[in-house]
Amino acid sequence: MPGKNIPKGAPLSVDEVALREELRANVQKLAGEIGERNMWHYPQLNASADFIEDSFLSAGLHPRRDTYEMHGQRCHNIEVEILGRQVATASQPSRLPIILIGAHYDSVFGSPGANDNATGVAAVLALARRFAARQQERRLTQTPYKTLRFVAFVNEEPPYFLSGEMGSLVYAGRCKERGDKISAMISLETIGYFSDAPHSQQYPSPGLGIFYPRVGNFIGFVSNVHSRALLRRVVALFRKQAKIPSEGAALPAFIPGVSWSDQWSFWQHGYPGIMVTDTAPFRYPDYHSATDTPDKLDYDRFTLVVSGIEKVIADLMQVSEL
Ligand SMILES: [Zn+2]
Repeated sequence: MPGKNIPKGAPLSVDEVALREELRANVQKLAGEIGERNMWHYPQLNASADFIEDSFLSAGLHPRRDTYEMHGQRCHNIEVEILGRQVATASQPSRLPIILIGAHYDSVFGSPGANDNATGVAAVLALARRFAARQQERRLTQTPYKTLRFVAFVNEEPPYFLSGEMGSLVYAGRCKERGDKISAMISLETIGYFSDAPHSQQYPSPGLGIFYPRVGNFIGFVSNVHSRALLRRVVALFRKQAKIPSEGAALPAFIPGVSWSDQWSFWQHGYPGIMVTDTAPFRYPDYHSATDTPDKLDYDRFTLVVSGIEKVIADLMQVSEL
């Protein structure tokens, strides 16, 4: 789904400036202050979990830890829910369709993980705060029939990646067991780096470079073939209002990069899922390295991605067939 070009440098609104500063502070806390956070840096992993929980609490939400044990150590996914309003015909709010927005909060070994994936977590926290406020102001009353869920996942990075110990796979399995009706899973994965330099965008296969831009100034939406209807819908909603170029691709899951985040875990359980990404290793020179630090990010364009996603979520809440 190659997209149209939008002139760069679209100005931020007052709300977007506030959002940018919130995103910047969240990234700084996770990647600048706490730093590397994974099973080799277990206190930092837990400090990150505490920070995420506190942020949800301060938004007026009630976080729940989805815990599992690995080699004697406890690991936590952290979730909050904004329940859809129960209607006469719906017996349980938990049986309402769920839109789930997720991001992993661990960083790869040897990296403070500013872009991968403090950006995704920063976005989850900021979006949860905004939708909690909408609910408190009753601006969600016209969209009562869906539940919105925000989840921070643990242990996405290797060696847990695509294994039974991956936080999101444990989580998605429990969703399936409970019979959760997840109608859309959106994984926010490495969303803060942009470049206007020629040839700044690479692709996992040379063929894709024919159809997609060579300049890394856009945000990408990626899914497996099974989730292509959701992908098309999300990209269309994003393009309706976003102030940053976007590209969408529904591709076979074996193409490198397509499965590289928590949406994969939901695919394993038959749920539709997409990833929002700046394409990570195909653009970002500091990917998975000690130099993935907060100063490398483009906070203006990162903000335009998140404000665009906020509007997509609000629209998805109103789509009846989801
Ligand atoms: Zn990642």
